Amino acid sequence: MIDYHIHLERGPYNLEWLKQFWVQAELQGITEIGITEHAHEFREFVPVYEHLWEEPSSASWIQRHFHRSIDDYLALLNAGQQAGIPLKVGLEADYFPKREGEIRSLLRRYDFDYVLGSVHFLGDWSFDWGSDLGWPERDADEAYLAYLIVMEKMAQSNLFDVLAHLDVIKVFGYRAQRNLDGQWMALLQIIAEAGLAIEVSTAGLRKPVGEIYPHFSLLKDAARLNIPITIASDAHTPFDVGDRWQEAVALAKRAGYAHYCSFKGRQRADHQFPSL
Ligand SMILES: [Zn+2]
Ligand SMILES: [Zn+2]
Repeated sequence: MIDYHIHLERGPYNLEWLKQFWVQAELQGITEIGITEHAHEFREFVPVYEHLWEEPSSASWIQRHFHRSIDDYLALLNAGQQAGIPLKVGLEADYFPKREGEIRSLLRRYDFDYVLGSVHFLGDWSFDWGSDLGWPERDADEAYLAYLIVMEKMAQSNLFDVLAHLDVIKVFGYRAQRNLDGQWMALLQIIAEAGLAIEVSTAGLRKPVGEIYPHFSLLKDAARLNIPITIASDAHTPFDVGDRWQEAVALAKRAGYAHYCSFKGRQRADHQFPSL
């Protein structure tokens, strides 16, 4: 079993810290980890985020990020592989429709096994940052519709291998009042046509919404469309690696999945689920 969404950013880039993630993975019965640091940890990715610089609301966020070099990250993951840790080299990249060119040229520059595409921002609003940031004054229907539009563009961008936390817009439990089934189905069809994978992520279990990403009904539709899946915790600490992966697999099986996938050199491989 894999855990394909892990962040190292809360600790130093050294082998000791990386090994703590693998120790927990092994305890959980995980056999391969994918490390997917946020692109906004790295100064090389500043051009992708430059439009946020003008926003006073994001100033403190910007100051806390972009302090690391991606070369140090890649060197650490390489050292981890040399030390025998079965890990894949990933990245979680924010998608901004107006920054496709910058994202493309940066992703081309490095050798990743796979790249997660994520939407955490609608315009300059970081909607998953806090339940009291932006949500109380916004119309949930509009937020969901705006999110779906950006997700469609991301799926069509040909930049990524896996779309992360498909319905993270639900993170704080705000729900659209309108029925958006048609829009979600349209998004899934684009994902299927683009040959992208999605995550089954237990991160939502640790958030106010308290449910796996994506919702079971979306996962059933995704299974019908043969959209491949990875299993993901979105761990930001060693402790969360492999968090409740059995629940994710059980949900995927109930949705109709018999396989999950892994990546190497941005090529996908499919694997049968283990029996639980
Ligand atoms: Zn994310
Ligand atoms: Zn993440």
